[in-house]
Amino acid sequence: MKRALITGVTGQDGAYLAALLLSKGYEVHGLLHRHGGSEAVAERLHRLGCNGTVQMVDGNLIDLSSLIRLLQKVEPDEIYNLAAQSFVRMSWDQPLLTAHVTALGTGNLLEAVRIAAPRARFFQAGSSEMFGRAEGRAQSEASNFHPRSPYASAKVFAHCLVGNYRDAFGLFACNGIMFNHDSPLRGVEFVLRKITDGAARISLGLAKDLSLGNLEARRDFGHSRDYVRAMWLMLQQETADDYVVATGRAASIRDLCRIAFGHVGLDYEAHVRVDPAFLRPADVDVTLGDPTRARERLGWEPETSLEAMIAEMVDADLARWRARAG
Ligand code: GDP
Repeated sequence: MKRALITGVTGQDGAYLAALLLSKGYEVHGLLHRHGGSEAVAERLHRLGCNGTVQMVDGNLIDLSSLIRLLQKVEPDEIYNLAAQSFVRMSWDQPLLTAHVTALGTGNLLEAVRIAAPRARFFQAGSSEMFGRAEGRAQSEASNFHPRSPYASAKVFAHCLVGNYRDAFGLFACNGIMFNHDSPLRGVEFVLRKITDGAARISLGLAKDLSLGNLEARRDFGHSRDYVRAMWLMLQQETADDYVVATGRAASIRDLCRIAFGHVGLDYEAHVRVDPAFLRPADVDVTLGDPTRARERLGWEPETSLEAMIAEMVDADLARWRARAG
C-alpha cells in the first residue's frame, strides 16, 4: 500500500486529492496546522466522505524540525505540497506572512525531504499567477514569469527551489503550474464561488445584489477534481518535470456572472454591482494556459466543462442555502 502526505489537506484540492488517493488504495496522511477552531477544518473532507479515513498529523510548514519528524514517522512515498497562504488579495496586506508560508514553507519541506525522505516523490502546487501579465499567447512551461503580487512572487521562489532540488540533489520533484480551479468546495473569498453563492442567494430571495471588483479580468478556469488527477499523474511518470495544468480556454468574470445567473434564470446585469473595494492594487488581466505537455505526456484532459462546473457549484449553493433556511 502506498503512503501519501498532503499539506493543505483541509483545502479544496486537499480534499479532492485525498478522495482520489483513497479511491486508489493509498494510505493518506494530512498535515494539520492546529489552531483554535480546528473542528471546522475537516469540513471539506467530510463533504467528500473521507473525513476519518485521512490520518491527520500535526505540523507546520514554517517549522522545519516538525516536518523532519513527520517524514520520519510517516515515511511517505508521495508528498503533495498544497499548503499556502493562497489568497492573492490578502497577500497585499500580509506580504511577509505570505512569503513565510508559501515561499520559505516550501523550502522547509524540501529540506525535510532531502534529509528524511529523499526517495519520496514530491509535488509542488504552483500557480498561473506566477506568469502575471500574459504576453498575448497561451502560457506554457517555457513562458516567462512576471509575478504581480506578493503571493505570485512567493510561488515563483518555491517553483525555482523545486527545480534546484531536482537538479542538485536528484529529488523526484515536480511543479504543477495550476491555473484557476474551482468546485463547490472553493472558499467564498474566490471570485467564482462568490458569484455562484451570490446567484443562489439572490434567486432564493435572500439577497438583492452582489458586489464584485474587476469584471473584465479573464481567467482559465477548470475543476479541482480534474486538476488533482493531473497532480497524481505527474508523480507516476518515469522522470520528474514541470507541467501547466489548464483548460486552454479563458472566460471573463462577466462571463462567469452571465453563466451562473443564467443557470437560475436571472439577468446578472440587474444584480451585479462593481465596488472599488474589490479592485486590486495590481491585477492580472488575463491568464490562459497551454496544457499540451500534460495532454501529451500524462494523457491528461479536463473532463468537466466551465458550464457544467458552474451549474454544479450553483446547485450546491442552492442546496446549502435551502437547507439553512430549513
Ligand atoms: P486569483 O486569480 O487566484 O486571484 O483568484 P480570485 O478568484 O481571487 O480572482 C480572480 C479574478 O477575479 C481577479 O482578476 C480578481 O480581480 C477578479 N475579481 C473581480 N471581482 C472579485 C471579487 O469580488 N472577489 C475576488 N476574489 N476576485 C474578484
